[in-house]
Amino acid sequence: MLKNVVRGLTVAAALLAAPVFGQVASQPAGGVDGNAGDILGEQENAPLIVCFAEGTDEKYVAQVSAYVAAFNEQFDMQRYQLGTRWSGSQGTPRAVTWSFVPDGLSIPGSAGEATSPSDLFAKMDTKFTRATWIGHVQSCFDRWQEISGLSFTRITFGGNDWDDGASFTSSGNASRGDIRIGMHNIDGANGILAYAFYPSNGNMVLDSGDINNFGSTTNVARFFRNTFMHELGHAIGFDHVCSNNSNQLMEPFLSTSFDGPRHDEFRAVQRHYGDTSGTIGTAATARNLGNLISGTPINVGTPVPNPDSGTNDTQVTISSLDDDGELDWYKFTTTSPLTFTATLTPYGKTYDDNSQAASGSCNTGTSTNSLTILNMRIDVYAADGTTLLGSASSAAAGAVETLSGLSLGVGTFYVKISAAAGTSQSQLYLLTLSGTGCTAPTITGQPSNLTRCVGTSATFTVTATNATGYQWRKNTVNIGGANSSSYTIASVVAGDAASYDCVVSNSCSNVTSNAATLTVNSTANITGQPSNQTKCSGQSASFSVTATGATGYQWRKNTINIGGATSSTYTIASVTTGDVGSYDCVVSNSCGNVTSNAATLAVDVGPTITVDPTGGSVCRGGSIMLSVTATGASGYQWRQNGSDIGGATSSSYTIINAQLADAGNYDCVVTNGCGTDMSAAAAVVVCAADFNCDGFVNGDDYDAFAELFESGDLGADINGDGFVNGDDYDAFSEAFDAGC
Ligand SMILES: [Zn+2]
Repeated sequence: MLKNVVRGLTVAAALLAAPVFGQVASQPAGGVDGNAGDILGEQENAPLIVCFAEGTDEKYVAQVSAYVAAFNEQFDMQRYQLGTRWSGSQGTPRAVTWSFVPDGLSIPGSAGEATSPSDLFAKMDTKFTRATWIGHVQSCFDRWQEISGLSFTRITFGGNDWDDGASFTSSGNASRGDIRIGMHNIDGANGILAYAFYPSNGNMVLDSGDINNFGSTTNVARFFRNTFMHELGHAIGFDHVCSNNSNQLMEPFLSTSFDGPRHDEFRAVQRHYGDTSGTIGTAATARNLGNLISGTPINVGTPVPNPDSGTNDTQVTISSLDDDGELDWYKFTTTSPLTFTATLTPYGKTYDDNSQAASGSCNTGTSTNSLTILNMRIDVYAADGTTLLGSASSAAAGAVETLSGLSLGVGTFYVKISAAAGTSQSQLYLLTLSGTGCTAPTITGQPSNLTRCVGTSATFTVTATNATGYQWRKNTVNIGGANSSSYTIASVVAGDAASYDCVVSNSCSNVTSNAATLTVNSTANITGQPSNQTKCSGQSASFSVTATGATGYQWRKNTINIGGATSSTYTIASVTTGDVGSYDCVVSNSCGNVTSNAATLAVDVGPTITVDPTGGSVCRGGSIMLSVTATGASGYQWRQNGSDIGGATSSSYTIINAQLADAGNYDCVVTNGCGTDMSAAAAVVVCAADFNCDGFVNGDDYDAFAELFESGDLGADINGDGFVNGDDYDAFSEAFDAGC
């Protein structure tokens, strides 16, 4: 897409010619004497300006100039040193983007040379490292930016050093710059060095035939940078200026005797894009100059940043009124009463300043006195921005305007710089604000926030110069007796947590320090104590503590730390008797330790029988006692031949009135909450043959049995079946014969 053509541009077709240095260049390949109409198809459709090396032949310059002028005729241009600017109101800041085009991109022959691909990277990389020459280019943009309201942003595309490579005539967008930079052969060494298009095209074409000139490293590659900054001057809207005595960057003679923009360019760029303060045309948008302190003046407009090499031109500043209608507003504050002085010094000088003729030669005879462009004045306003406190306007244009002796209290004030109606050009100036008076204290060290534990001390300190009094405050309430540069609380309590500041004073004024907070911490608070535990061997046991404000836990057994037991709960997965002990937990935070109550762990085991029951023989109708001895037992169950005996649940069991059915094996199962143990079996024999229970089996027993048997007494019912009969006799006889 072709760039838009803005008609009526106030730009000139200006040409460099200096028959002083270098060889005469050959004719450009496209033929400068050709008819413009014949080659328009290969040109960018925008006005351009061609720039020559020193020493270029006048005749050649005239030929090229005529060619370019014929081309530029279609744009109805007027000739002034100042061309059109990038869009926006005169004197306002402007952001402009730029990019390199990739090698190989076709560059039209706009100055009459042949259309050919760009070889910028290939050529420049032979003279410098890539980073070095791109750094030089960047510094050229930086230089114009740091002396004006311009800001430049480089655009690259696809991770390359170049842009998207769209047709050279394409407008800037997110992937290519407003100003696009390419290089191809224009006319070989010397002659044309480069040409550039005015806004809003801005493209720049460097002559690869001059690569050896550009490769000079003298004065930080000044030849290349001055060429580039000169072309950039065209690309932001400046024509050539002709001067026979002042060495300006935009003169049609490339000079390497200085570095970058000179006095005329400072004026020009601030006229077009304003100064470095940006848009400050109202009190609301005033530039804030900060605090004005007695004896420490504030300067606006200087110092001017230095160029990459050499020194600044004389009478340059980075502040100006860009027009007789412009207002520059500044504001400042005071912290103590001051006797205020504002000094407004116009910067400028008289120098030769002419346009360039269509032939490429310089016109002569016009002189500019940049010191007296505008007759400026100073007005000082109160904090409301409208109440006028003082003015100075009596000095003539070019003379220093001074407003002195104005008494200012503590507060915010505005200074407005303006000019009487006059010339529509920029006027550089230096504004100096100063004040004298008593000196308020200056706090050089603010109190720091503190975090303290209950019971420890806390000290706030403020350091200040010129202070004679101190008053510490807690939550903005004065603290009695706290009147030195430090305030100490010997033993902090919870109620001391607050915001503290200090009012530092002297006879002139008071200054309040920043507020510092005191944070009061205490030891952890245990809200839940561990509980005593009784567990059977093999079970798990857990102790827990709950606490607020805790950051650490350490469980202890019998006051000895347990390795790894550092959380709020301590669990023993399987207790043994070795775990029996007293457990507590040390709960900690930054303020110290608190120890929980101790809780005991008791470990139970199952019962153990230590003495087994002993059996024996008992006569029928007699008694025998069985007993067992066990440790840890809480329950007993006697059994006969493996079956529980009802009610036999104590450590001994007595068989009363023994019958034959009571004979058998007896044991006892002992229990507690953690287990059981079983006694050995004890055999009990019921001796039916010892019928009279005298401990012997003999004839007396037989007689006794026979007596009862014969009388049918149930005492002879040996087998217990309720009858006295032959079965009983047989049973007795069998027992008697067996001996029991
Ligand atoms: Zn030029």
